[in-house]
Amino acid sequence: MKLKLMMSEDQDEPPDSPRKRNHSPASRCDDASSFRRNHFPDATEENWNDWHWQLKNRLTSASQLEKIVRLSDSERLAFQFASTTLPLAITPYYASLIDPLDPDQAIRRAMIPVASELLVAPDEAKDPLAEEGHSPVPGIVHRYPDRVLFLVTDYCSSYCRYCTRSRMVGRRKGASRKGWQQALDYIAAHRDIRDVLISGGDPLTLSDGQLDWLLGKLREIPHVEMIRIGTKVPFVLPQRVTPSLVAVLQKYHPLWMSIHAMHGDELTTESRRACTMLANAGIPLGSQTVLLAGINDSLEVMRTLMHGLLKIRVKPYYLYQCDPTIGSAHFRTSVSKGLELYAGLRGHTTGYAVPTYVIDAPGGGGKIPLLPETVVGRQGTNLLIKNFEGKVYAYPDTVENLGGNQSCSHSEVQPCVSA
Ligand code: SF4
Repeated sequence: MKLKLMMSEDQDEPPDSPRKRNHSPASRCDDASSFRRNHFPDATEENWNDWHWQLKNRLTSASQLEKIVRLSDSERLAFQFASTTLPLAITPYYASLIDPLDPDQAIRRAMIPVASELLVAPDEAKDPLAEEGHSPVPGIVHRYPDRVLFLVTDYCSSYCRYCTRSRMVGRRKGASRKGWQQALDYIAAHRDIRDVLISGGDPLTLSDGQLDWLLGKLREIPHVEMIRIGTKVPFVLPQRVTPSLVAVLQKYHPLWMSIHAMHGDELTTESRRACTMLANAGIPLGSQTVLLAGINDSLEVMRTLMHGLLKIRVKPYYLYQCDPTIGSAHFRTSVSKGLELYAGLRGHTTGYAVPTYVIDAPGGGGKIPLLPETVVGRQGTNLLIKNFEGKVYAYPDTVENLGGNQSCSHSEVQPCVSA
């Protein structure tokens, strides 16, 4: 660590009485309404439900935040160095989910900087995935043979403190058709690119017109088979998911969406509505979750999130080991913790609820799946494999020995079992 800071948490009562976390639909509406009345008294319900209003009224400073939460010493200290770190921005909607009393609450930790963010560990890097080294033209990261990442904006409605792209997001470089043209030309010139993942920043912060133009240009390229959008909008700015946005998106099928989901506190009436609208438009929804220390690194929290996602028709897709970006040590867990959580899900719950646990290899090696050891050895031609309960079974791995074309059904071979 380059810098060590000592601090104590502020235990005083917050300025306003805390809102209890209770996500039954009625209480959530009550929570959001009372939050609006308390903190944005001039805003109408129509304002609150307007995504432009939400963006215009983002919380971007410590003084604005202090009216909503009592900042801890650690959070205050972080703000003294704010100019050197990722910008702060939280939509009023997402701020309404922050617990004003508890500095350890998941959404609060993800959004409000703490002093630990100022610490730089030796293994951390500004660009841990070496995206810039794999960028042939501005906006494109070409790491895998048949697909590219297309970074179309550096803007997000709310900034996650653990963001892998903290080096570039929120730098106000803007998004424009002119700026995207070189990337579009690159995709058009490379016939092996069949899959384009649009990300950023958050692409769903673009206007309907910008998205319509961009998706239309990609669809004009014959070899682009599928388009994916990576976004956190349904959970931080669900008001953005409007009938007109959905009408634009569904013109460009097959269109898939990967939604960044962090914690069950994000699963509200509003986010459910947004995901339902997207799913009803025929957009397959998958989630991407970063494993975060003290936020979602318990089996109970992870299971609640994964089950909750399935209930709003989002298939848990990836669970990422947190990337070693600058100032991320307080967010990172051990890999053994991730494997433990994976093992706690696999076999114990619906297979659809189990995401693939991956490390995005530092230096640009791509995503590498991690699995608890399930192949435990051989016994003659039998492969010994371990199930979710730790029991070992024998699989007759004899097909190659029999010449390849002969079948070997389970009913013909009795598995041997040991505890
Ligand atoms: S929404 Fe995604 S790109 Fe934006 S700050 Fe969060 S992690 Fe980074």
